[in-house]
Amino acid sequence: MEITLFLLGLMFGGLISWWITHAYYKKSSKNQNAVFNKLSEEVREAILNDNREKLSVLELNELIREKTIDEEVGEAIPYMSCPKCGSEDLERTSDVEVDYGPEGPELAGHYDIVRCKKCEWTKTSHGYESSRDDI
Ligand SMILES: [Zn+2]
Repeated sequence: MEITLFLLGLMFGGLISWWITHAYYKKSSKNQNAVFNKLSEEVREAILNDNREKLSVLELNELIREKTIDEEVGEAIPYMSCPKCGSEDLERTSDVEVDYGPEGPELAGHYDIVRCKKCEWTKTSHGYESSRDDI
């Protein structure tokens, strides 16, 4: 009788321990999936290709900046990929004559423009930025 109770207790304890581990694992993998799905493919790729075991907020910012901007390229707008969607399909137009800028005629002049062919994010060499959401 005592042995049966002991075995039942053991089984019950094991079951509770399994259930706690299972529930924790399920919640943790659900959270991991939620984080994974929030990141664009380009960001996931950049993070997975990085050799560091952990990334701080600062390191993650630098990693994304390195994938987006190359200051050594010597362009007026040194973007390698779109900061909005991550696409590398950018179209550059140099020396575009602008009669007046979005803030008024004082911004008239010649500017370089970079435009993302995928999401239509645009930035000019005088710092004006727009995207499809702004329209
Ligand atoms: Zn884009």
